[in-house]
Formats: sequence, C-alpha cells, structure tokens
Amino acid sequence: MLPAGELELLRPTTLEDAAALLLRPRARLVAGGTDLLPNLRRGIGTPRWLVDLGAIEGFDAVREDGEGLRLGAGLTLAALIRRAQATDLAEVWPALVMAASQVAGPGHRSAATVGGNLCQDTRCIYYNQSAWWRQANGHCLKHEGTTCHVAPQGQRCHAAYAGDLAPALIAYGATVELASLEGRRTLPLADLYRDDGAAHLTLAPHELLASVWLPRPAAGSASAYRKMRSRAAMDFALAGVAMVLRLQQGTIAELAVGVSGTNSHPVRLQGTEALLGQAPGDEAARALGKLVARQASPMRSTVTAAHYRRLVAATAAERLLLELAAR
Ligand SMILES: Cc1cc2nc3c(=O)[nH]c(=O)nc-3n(C[C@H](O)[C@H](O)[C@H](O)COP(=O)(O)OP(=O)(O)OC[C@H]3O[C@@H](n4cnc5c(N)ncnc54)[C@H](O)[C@@H]3O)c2cc1C
Ligand code: SF4
Repeated sequence: MLPAGELELLRPTTLEDAAALLLRPRARLVAGGTDLLPNLRRGIGTPRWLVDLGAIEGFDAVREDGEGLRLGAGLTLAALIRRAQATDLAEVWPALVMAASQVAGPGHRSAATVGGNLCQDTRCIYYNQSAWWRQANGHCLKHEGTTCHVAPQGQRCHAAYAGDLAPALIAYGATVELASLEGRRTLPLADLYRDDGAAHLTLAPHELLASVWLPRPAAGSASAYRKMRSRAAMDFALAGVAMVLRLQQGTIAELAVGVSGTNSHPVRLQGTEALLGQAPGDEAARALGKLVARQASPMRSTVTAAHYRRLVAATAAERLLLELAAR
C-alpha cells in the first residue's frame, strides 16, 4: 500500500456546506473510509481534498413511523445492527439487518456507513490491486489504461457492484434523498445506479446521498437476504440475493428481488409479475431462477468463474423463494 498522498480533510457540519466543498477540484467525499481509503492507498484516485461527512448534524438519524423507516446516510452499520437488537427493525425489515450484518468484519462495520455502502466503488480483479501490480499488468480502461482486460473488444468497464445493502433495500422498494446546492431530490434507489462499472452512480458531480427511506412492508410479507462468498468470515458477495414475498391464499401476491455481485449495478429483477397468482412451488422457483440467470450478467471480474456466479445467483433465488414460502 502507498501513503494516501497529500490530502487535506474538510469537516462541514451541513449537507449544503459539504455540497459546496465538492465544487473544489479533486474533492472527494469520505464517510467511514473503509472503501475509499484502501483504493487511495492503491493509487486509485488522487484527491486533494477529502470532504469528511462525519461532523454533519443529524446525518446518522433514524426515524421510524407507521409509514416506514428513514435512515440517515451517515448511520454506521454497527449502529443499525445495534438498533435492530433493541427494536422490531429485524422483524419488519429482516433482509436489511441480514445484509448489514454480513458486510465486511466488525471493525469495518463500526465505521462503515449506509451511504458509503450504497455508493461504494465497483470491483474487479484487474482494478482492486496495488499500483505496482496494475502497472506490471498494464493499466485498464477504468483507471489510467485504454483496454478492458475482462472484455478487450469492448469500450466499457464490467467491474461488479458487490454491495450488500442495495439488493435488500431495492427489494423493499427504497427511495433515496439526494442533496446538492440546487436543493433536494428523491428517486428510487435502483435509479441511483447505471450499468457501467467505471461510472455506476447517477449522482450529479456535486450531489450526495442524504438519506434512504423504506416503506413498511405489507402485513404478512416475508423477506430475507442470502449472500454467497468464498470466505464466510469476511468477503464481498459473489452473488447476493434479497427477496420480499407475500402470499395470499397459497399463491404469490407480491414478489420483489434484488441481486448484487453479478452486474455493474445492483439489479432490480424484472418480470416477477409473471409469477403472481402461482403457487410458490418448484415450478415457480425454476421460473424465478431463469429470470435471475437471464438478468444477472457476471463477467470475468472475480477469481470465481462468471458462469458459476450466474448459477449461484439463480439457485439462491430459487431456494429463497421456497424457504420464504414455507415460513
Ligand atoms: C476487507 C474489506 C471487506 C469488505 N467487505 C464488504 C462486504 O462484504 N460487503 C460490502 O457491501 N462492502 C464491503 N466492503 C466495502 C466497505 O467496507 C463497505 O461497503 C462500507 O459500507 C463502505 O462505507 P464507508 O462509509 O466506509 O464508505 P467510504 O469508504 O467512506 O465511501 C465509499 C464511497 O462512497 C462515497 N460516499 C460515501 N458517503 C457518501 C454519501 N453520503 N453520498 C455520496 N457518496 C458517498 C465516497 O466518496 C466513496 O466513493 C469491504 C471493505 C474492505 C476493506
Ligand atoms: S472490467 Fe475491465 S475496465 Fe473494468 S476494472 Fe476490470 S479490467 Fe478494468
């Protein structure tokens, strides 16, 4: 790892001040730093200013009411998990708590924030490497190079988005509130992302994530998050699948699925309405698996084979459907 370079830390106390500081050339936001700092120490990016979000008042606030739950983007994952232990949060939004509990290790979670988790960089074996490794192997399209080593014929980056919170929040139909000097705007969380590993966020240059809102799931719905990874102790998802399922008179009345680890953005699975009214048995599970296999498009961006990751995502979704239906 390299020293992080010459940096100056700025500590605004309001979101508006943070947005204004982003106008400075080579300014970057930092929250917990658990994603950003390892990348900087690999020589990926050379910011001059780090806009530290840790002093913004109320940035870690949690508000729950009859309609839903609002999480400040500055809330740490450890604080989210602690709150879940003391309230009914894990009963109402279990997939969220399961996802947060499986991010990195306890030390990371004590600093890592909801906003940083959602805005974390995409990952690739040719990118998350030391500066000398990348130089020795020829830099790639995403940073300082001209060719993508994963798909050399193309002109886009296929690095994978492997965040754990996003699939769960997408399955719950979450929206995000963004702040900039122009004011605030709200959009569905899935629209925060685009399918481009080198520029996967749709945030405007001087915009930041202020909070996330989750509607309260309909009575009788069940949800969960399943993460597949090489090392259970601590690892990014090879595939992560979140699901919200509601049955009515033994058939599927609601089904929402979010997938991480396979594409350059977290996937909000399309086409699940075709399963509404069906019994949640093997046939529906197979149909769901096919939807996932078609929409997951892993590339050779991890040491695990792309086709295997696709199969794992599809199988996880099939099993999750059967498990949730059996509850
Ligand atoms: C060893 C290791 C293992 C890991 N394992 C996992 C894992 O299993 N699952 C997982 O999901 N992640 C994992 N991570 C990545 C990281 O720890 C988490 O994603 C963490 O939640 C990032 O949050 P942070 O607050 O530390 O983000 P930071 O590092 O502070 O920021 C990450 C990015 O988001 C931007 N950002 C931060 N806050 C905002 C905001 N409010 N608005 C706009 N942009 C913002 C920053 O500019 C930066 O580009 C791992 C990291 C390491 C080093
Ligand atoms: S997918 Fe290609 S361009 Fe993107 S980080 Fe990997 S090698 Fe680089």
